[in-house]
Amino acid sequence: MALIVKKFGGSSVATTEKILNVARRILSEKNPDDKIVVVVSAMGDATDNLITLAEGIDNQPYRAQYSREMDMLLTTGEQISIALLAMAFQKLGHHAISLTGAMAGMRTNSVHTKGRILGIEPARVIEELNRGNIVVVAGFQGADKFGNPVTLGRGGSDTSAVALAGALKADECEIFTDVDGVYSADPRVVKNARKMREITYREMLELARLGAGVMQPRSVEMGQYFNIPIHVRSTFNDKIGTIIREDYTLEDKDFEIRGVAHDQKVAKIAVLGVENVPGVAHKIFAALAYANIDVDMIVQSIRNLERNITDMVFTIALNDLPEAKKVINRVAEEINAATVLIEEDVAKVSIVGAGMLGKPGIAARMFGALASADVNIDIISTSEISVSCLIKASQLTEAVNAIHDEFFAD
Ligand code: ADP
Ligand code: ASP
Ligand code: MG
Repeated sequence: MALIVKKFGGSSVATTEKILNVARRILSEKNPDDKIVVVVSAMGDATDNLITLAEGIDNQPYRAQYSREMDMLLTTGEQISIALLAMAFQKLGHHAISLTGAMAGMRTNSVHTKGRILGIEPARVIEELNRGNIVVVAGFQGADKFGNPVTLGRGGSDTSAVALAGALKADECEIFTDVDGVYSADPRVVKNARKMREITYREMLELARLGAGVMQPRSVEMGQYFNIPIHVRSTFNDKIGTIIREDYTLEDKDFEIRGVAHDQKVAKIAVLGVENVPGVAHKIFAALAYANIDVDMIVQSIRNLERNITDMVFTIALNDLPEAKKVINRVAEEINAATVLIEEDVAKVSIVGAGMLGKPGIAARMFGALASADVNIDIISTSEISVSCLIKASQLTEAVNAIHDEFFAD
């Protein structure tokens, strides 16, 4: 007997026919004694469509004032797919029950639209499994201590699945999606991207954090925390996908970089002409942190030594821009900044790999590849195992391909 958690993403359950296919596949692969928990996302583009609906009320629905109601709205997407999938199992002759995130015991903090899981109390899931049900759980959602619905950020069903697998001490956690596994770059952007057999949590986390949307970053952290290997594979064929785990077992570890990630959902904010004195950076970034806005790349330039003024430039997630504008305009006034500039037509391209540790030539090769593609670099940031460059959004495809060719040419 095995306890298996399987997660199916939006494109895997985009139509009722696809939902029936998912149910058929699960039943055909299931051993009689297996206990199966299925975590599902909203059907196809349902979440995007719900956001568009909210834009009919206010074209900036991600403002903090709406965040609870956005969660009330967005959680309905997953509720549709769990009900239909449970019905599909029943139609095919198997007992099944659907549970919302809250019913499955997913406890979160109260940070609406980007909630974090605080703990899982999966008693109801276990009870239903013991009754012989396949348990279908709504991904992307939980409830805070007041019972309010809270979503886990875009792509959050991955995190629901891995966290549930951890809490249930599952034997396997499979993430079914519309690609065959994790590739050396987004296969929609780089046609000759290579599929990986394995990748470590650390490298996958960095790729995900830098925009590789195949896994939500928090889900990889969860996998590492519970030490659960995650198998990312296709819904539409039965090929072995990519295993995310602590260390490599099969592959040659001598690669320099593991992958190229990109992120178009970023915005750049420049607070120009601020006084170069202690406490200015703290004022700007504390105000953003207080509004739950994550800051990514940060550059402080020494612009004018004589007048002792400087510029603060940083990037944030595009979703956070409406709220960030409010915060920054307020702080800019407080600190007497000359002006605030906002750019939305920017994108970030990154290379990731534990193999770059202690190899100084790697970043230079990335910059060289960008230069030969005539791509200008606006901001550079690094971590131990990654290098990221902010560039013009319109040059993103060329940039990603040029970097990929540099490191992955045969
Ligand atoms: P799901 O709805 O199943 O959660 P997502 O759209 O969230 O699917 O994630 C799968 C998509 O992630 C793929 O279609 C692919 O375009 C994108 N992606 C980005 N980077 C990578 C990568 N390195 N490897 C595989 N897929 C990637
Ligand atoms: N439906 C949510 C989204 O589109 C969660 C998910 O698919 O993982 O972001
Ligand atoms: Mg996803």
